[in-house]
Amino acid sequence: MKRLLLALLISVVGQPLFAQTTWIRAGGVVDVEAGSLLENQVIRIEGERIAAMGADLRIPAGADVIDLSDAIILPGLIEAHTHLALSTQERRDFGRFFITNVIETTGYRAIQGVTNARSLLEHGFTSIRDLGNSGNYGDLDLKHAIEHGWIPGPDMQTVGRIIAPFGGQFQLQPEHPELVAPEYLVADTRDEMRKAIHQNLHYGADLIKIVVDDFAYQYTEEDLAWAVDEITRAGTKLATHVTTYEGAKHAVRAGAASLEHAWELDDETLQMMVEKGTFLVGTDFPSYYAGYFAGYDDTLAQQLYDKRIARLRRAYEAGVKIAFGADVTDQKDGYTRGSLTISFISSFADAGITPEDLLRIMTINGAELMDWENDKGTVEVGKHADLIAVSSNPLENPDALLDVSFVMKRGAVYKQDGRFVWEVPAVIEATE
Ligand SMILES: [Zn+2]
Repeated sequence: MKRLLLALLISVVGQPLFAQTTWIRAGGVVDVEAGSLLENQVIRIEGERIAAMGADLRIPAGADVIDLSDAIILPGLIEAHTHLALSTQERRDFGRFFITNVIETTGYRAIQGVTNARSLLEHGFTSIRDLGNSGNYGDLDLKHAIEHGWIPGPDMQTVGRIIAPFGGQFQLQPEHPELVAPEYLVADTRDEMRKAIHQNLHYGADLIKIVVDDFAYQYTEEDLAWAVDEITRAGTKLATHVTTYEGAKHAVRAGAASLEHAWELDDETLQMMVEKGTFLVGTDFPSYYAGYFAGYDDTLAQQLYDKRIARLRRAYEAGVKIAFGADVTDQKDGYTRGSLTISFISSFADAGITPEDLLRIMTINGAELMDWENDKGTVEVGKHADLIAVSSNPLENPDALLDVSFVMKRGAVYKQDGRFVWEVPAVIEATE
């Protein structure tokens, strides 16, 4: 009896014991790999996955059909660098996340993260990498809450606490060195690095993030190679926060999976990235945003923007693998986390990146970086039914992505006809 009851409960929260069949009639489906549009497709979804797709699939009478015949479907988008549990307030914190981190609790930040997670999903992001600054493992709590159906959100990978040399990314003063915690795990020696890696993995982090070069004292190439060895043996990957030419070079040589930001990249490093398959998650922002980083001086802001876009263009032209990551951390008037994040696609067009490649950057590349290429990144039989719909062809104009009308993740509908339709479940599955 108990078992039967549990089975009934499980079927209520959208993870049916017997796969449910849903059909979608689509005006078109973007084949992101080929960079082309397949017209008039029918998709059959069994449970979480795509079971069949084609122009001549016959939908049986009485079937559960979602009519998107006036829309274009594409794979759910992947945001590879965000921070759900970090929402800085410009007027209060002057854009300094140090202040947010110190004065807000992990609990409050995780609650803000609930809204950010829902917002990203609503705007078409069905998978994200959360790169830390989550207080005391708030990112892991958000991930578990999404997985178990308490809140709606993208599928997530997390880093736990960011590993960094003394000071983290803060400017500490000697009376309060403890302010670096719980935001960072300080690791100045290899023993400390090993312990920090173990701690994060023990608590459930999916990958490790290391701040390489924010201060004059930096991790060496040997330190990072040593960490990569430790991380690889544990079956995961290293994401590196780098901002200098030297830091980027050391991280690539050491075998990091990705460079985050990497504002400075010389040709030698770009060539090594191509050879080693290192990803650039450039966290580029639109031109109107540059003032935020340049003291609101218009001339300086334009120079900064031009310089960063030039490096993105050089990376693209060199053939470096790029994944999309907006690194939005602030609350901006008139925007949500999702609408602000998707607005950042304008920087890719400015760097001369074609719409086909932008879509690859936002789908298959992100899936490869996350080792999720068997489940995500394309609309393909066997993969998760992570599908979004827009009203016009994004291969012609990527601005179509700014208005996502339909979102499905793992076969469950979250947004339909432009309206978020997820509801708090009456019963949540019992978990271990
Ligand atoms: Zn970031």
